[in-house]
Amino acid sequence: MSIVVCAEQRDGSLRKITFEALSTGKRLAEASGETLKALLIGNGIAGLADELKKYGVDEVAVVDNAALGAYTADAYAAVLAAYVAQENPALVLFGHSSFGKELAPRAAAKVDCGLVSDCIDINFADGDYLFKHPVYAGKAIGNYKVAGPVRMATLRPNVFPIVESAGAGAVVNFATDIPAAKVTVTGTMMASGDRPELTEADIICSGGRGLGGPEGFKLIEALADALGAAVGSSRAAVDAGWREHAAQVGQTGKVVSPNLYVASGISGAIQHLAGMGSSKVIVGINKDGEANIFNVADYGVEGDLNKIIPALIEKLKELQ
Ligand SMILES: Cc1cc2nc3c(=O)[nH]c(=O)nc-3n(C[C@H](O)[C@H](O)[C@H](O)COP(=O)(O)OP(=O)(O)OC[C@H]3O[C@@H](n4cnc5c(N)ncnc54)[C@H](O)[C@@H]3O)c2cc1C
Repeated sequence: MSIVVCAEQRDGSLRKITFEALSTGKRLAEASGETLKALLIGNGIAGLADELKKYGVDEVAVVDNAALGAYTADAYAAVLAAYVAQENPALVLFGHSSFGKELAPRAAAKVDCGLVSDCIDINFADGDYLFKHPVYAGKAIGNYKVAGPVRMATLRPNVFPIVESAGAGAVVNFATDIPAAKVTVTGTMMASGDRPELTEADIICSGGRGLGGPEGFKLIEALADALGAAVGSSRAAVDAGWREHAAQVGQTGKVVSPNLYVASGISGAIQHLAGMGSSKVIVGINKDGEANIFNVADYGVEGDLNKIIPALIEKLKELQ
């Protein structure tokens, strides 16, 4: 049997989460004795198979078809279900990205198998896979086993380390019927700007209601420029119309795990922590010494962000 990673590509480039999923797949394959395979779906993407080979895959199955150029959940889920029917893998891994969050449940329903979403750890012990997934907005960690023969899981981005390794790396074409499209993509609007994407960013500077208005985000952007960071937001700032929803971090926004998360003027409500609590280092800047953000922060700065952030930017410039 095998472990299959559903590769995620956008506009002909593989997403970082794919390498995280492959590295995790490799570790699990070594523990369970399964082979590691990658499934690459799209149009004009066959050339990406070489990049996947760097992560120890035994085989890359490519479905390269003009009908799969624009991602639609219906078509991709049908391809996945057909591949799973042929391959009968023990485990299928996806990124917990917008792509994986939509595709994995559909594919699991088609295959009629169990799915654990937003995993922060997966191990193989005593002949079975063990999945860890945060519950109650991150207040507790649930441990799961899934009855086989097929299991599916989505992986929280930036949590699983990337490790390159050698593998046989054979490339095969997987031929299957593509169902007639129920949905047609008529256009795609990408967020503007050249900042890193939130879920892939190493550093995130986020702002909340404490910024006092949309103008306050200029300070956050200046800090993000000094750190080469992405800009995030609490829901209060999004609801107030200061920031677009794509920037929202939290239970009803994006789940992020950067190496450094700087929260300015954010109280640290449980719903916000649900989206950033697994960040490696958390810095809180808040004028209220009792703010909940200080309960999770590795470094806390108590004071007015309008004074602290400019001083911090000045210091960062000196250091550079
Ligand atoms: C079902 C549900 C889902 C939700 N999902 C999300 C979600 O995904 N993401 C999310 O963020 N929230 C979410 N919320 C909302 C959440 O409960 C909070 O209301 C929200 O996170 C508060 O945002 P905030 O911290 O920016 O604002 P506040 O809680 O108002 O905090 C503002 C902070 O700024 C500080 N401050 C003010 N002025 C300054 C200054 N000059 N200098 C320094 N500090 C200052 C204050 O001391 C305060 O701590 C959700 C709520 C519900 C019910």
